[in-house]
Amino acid sequence: MSLKRIITTAAAVSVATAVAGKKAYAWKSSTHEHIAMKALELLSIDGYNEAYSFYSPYRETLAVFTQKPDYKGDVDKGKGWHYYCVTDVNGKKLPSSKNGYLKSGKNLLSTARYSRNARSIFEDNYQSALTFYRLGNIEKSMEFVARCVHMVADVGCTPHTTNLTLTSVQNSKHKRYEYYTSGVFEKYFADKGDGEVYNLFLSDDCFGDCFNELSRKSASDYDTVVNAHGEDDLCETVERSLCVAQQYVAAFLLRFYNDAVSSDRGLLSGSRYIVRNAKSGEYICADISDNERFVYCYTDDDREDASVLTLRISGDGSYTLVCDEAKLPLASRPFIKPKDKNAAPKDIIHFKIALTPNGYRITSCDSKYQKALSQGKLDDMIITQYYNPDDLSQHWIFEKV
Ligand SMILES: [Zn+2]
Repeated sequence: MSLKRIITTAAAVSVATAVAGKKAYAWKSSTHEHIAMKALELLSIDGYNEAYSFYSPYRETLAVFTQKPDYKGDVDKGKGWHYYCVTDVNGKKLPSSKNGYLKSGKNLLSTARYSRNARSIFEDNYQSALTFYRLGNIEKSMEFVARCVHMVADVGCTPHTTNLTLTSVQNSKHKRYEYYTSGVFEKYFADKGDGEVYNLFLSDDCFGDCFNELSRKSASDYDTVVNAHGEDDLCETVERSLCVAQQYVAAFLLRFYNDAVSSDRGLLSGSRYIVRNAKSGEYICADISDNERFVYCYTDDDREDASVLTLRISGDGSYTLVCDEAKLPLASRPFIKPKDKNAAPKDIIHFKIALTPNGYRITSCDSKYQKALSQGKLDDMIITQYYNPDDLSQHWIFEKV
């Protein structure tokens, strides 16, 4: 890989760093913007001119929204959520799930470490970006593309793949890395993309290999990041990481462009689906309460009884599912038949829906998208559980009707 190091004065990348309320983690906001803008330039440098033209009108949106996940109160911000850990804080390799998911940062014993983390947040936003694109709302689609860019970039950052969180014993190493990077990032950019990384993104259906490959690369700098005597020792590592992050983001942008314009991938807002469980094959059915004010759900193996659900996307990229027959959206706690069949539901429930190697994961807003809809062990019950990527009963197949 050939890298170019240029000492620039005023880099032309700083489109939108002056946004209020920013909070710095790992790559600071300005570093995120730099990675996104340099990645976009790589598309042009590497001859992907159509993809470059596709994104060019939306530079500002990409620059602004790639920073948002680090802002206080953002839907994608949570403790340890932007991590995807190859090792623990001591550099010891961590196991992955059977199908290759790594865990979020911070508490190794938490049950909520597969959702949300950098990969699951990426997957959620990817789906939303595609849905908005299919709806013809390109500007909105770009907001979610930018959020994906943030997650790819964070996985390219060593502290984020080695659990060096700001609350860990190694927080000083994380901070040192961050402060050093924030002073030098504008000097570093890849002078071209990486052909293998482009191929990886174009061929990796659910992005698992993309995330695992990048996280392995960034985690391999653990020793340097932790043991560096001073900032001089970090120089080479940071330069390489920034350039690799740009190349991965460029490849991601090319992949999204391809999926958007030349595939039928992605769920459609306003379309009607029946939804079946990936493990049991049973369908989601909805019953209308006696007072006809809400619906509760169960599963049934008879396709005839499956409820037709209309999917709708909201501005924050979440989805609601409206039961056609009742003309009512699923409300919170719709999953278990309530004791009092007329008990009023709390709120309409919003979901994040993402494609995984096992089918679609449907996570609920009342768990901050950490718990996934699952078929319970007791016959026809639908429950929510902390996400386990290996558990087929937590995955669903959408069939368009
Ligand atoms: Zn982040």
